[in-house]
Amino acid sequence: MPKKGRVFSGARPTGRQHLGNYLGAIKNYVAMQADYDCVYCIVDLHALTTLEEREDLRQNTVDMALDWLAAGIRPEETILFVQSHVPEVTELHTILSMFTPLGKLTDLPTFKEKVAQQPHNVNYGLVGYPVLMSADITLYKADAVPVGVDQASHIEFTREVVRTFNHRTGRPVLVEPQMKNTEYPKVLGTDGVNKMGKSLNNHIEISGTPEETQKRVMTMVTDPQRQRRTDPGRPEVCNVFTLHKTFTPGDEVAAIDTACRQAGIGCVDCKKKLAANINAHFADFRERRAALASDPNHIRDVLADGAGRARDIARATMAEVRDAVGLP
Ligand code: SF4
Repeated sequence: MPKKGRVFSGARPTGRQHLGNYLGAIKNYVAMQADYDCVYCIVDLHALTTLEEREDLRQNTVDMALDWLAAGIRPEETILFVQSHVPEVTELHTILSMFTPLGKLTDLPTFKEKVAQQPHNVNYGLVGYPVLMSADITLYKADAVPVGVDQASHIEFTREVVRTFNHRTGRPVLVEPQMKNTEYPKVLGTDGVNKMGKSLNNHIEISGTPEETQKRVMTMVTDPQRQRRTDPGRPEVCNVFTLHKTFTPGDEVAAIDTACRQAGIGCVDCKKKLAANINAHFADFRERRAALASDPNHIRDVLADGAGRARDIARATMAEVRDAVGLP
């Protein structure tokens, strides 16, 4: 069956992945392989704009790649690589920056948010972030980029850069990527309020041991109105129940719903069930991950091979780009 085109997606190296990463991105990455030629990139250069702990970068990159591979990314067909291993992206970033008005970058809400978050470190990389992202996408001539609602403006930015470049050079060298609208479920953390994330330490790692997983699940906030075991609960406001809907068979979910409302089950038992089901769900994944992690050379080879294939595309694109802008 012919594929529908090339998809590009990049993610910052955040290390061991959690349930939010898995449900919000990795599952979709794996599924897209059936329909598209996929180019998946671990964007380590982007991480430098905010990273304080630089030593973590290498380990985080390896950990993330291990999780993606164990979850079902197939490197023999998908190009999986690390952004900085294809240095052409920095050259394209420089060239595209000449086609980007500065005011457009400083007006972006995402830039203003970053300035508010780290006023002590408003570096050039933060301003140029969307240009580097446009270089990521266009270097590989991606036809489509999966986006959630909150990322649509970034892709629109890339489309504008492409139109400007192609118009001003008079050469239709760069491909205007389409937005592949994707539902990214918002997964709440163990606090039951905020999106799951490492910075808030409210996450549950998919590669954790069964004991670690249970420990994290037992800290989850439940229905705040349920003070005692005898109080009836409200599953609809409880994040434990939300995760049951993903990891627990449907008939059991219905039984938990009823039992919770009638105070027929305590939150401790309910959480133990959830932890057991999460552990069962990821048992094969964890075995595959452990096997991959036992051979560090293998993961290095996979990423090097991906970078080699990505670089073949990048070199061809850059030859056209240099020619289009008149570089000798
Ligand atoms: Fe949530 Fe389960 Fe407790 Fe009900 S019994 S409030 S669903 S943890």
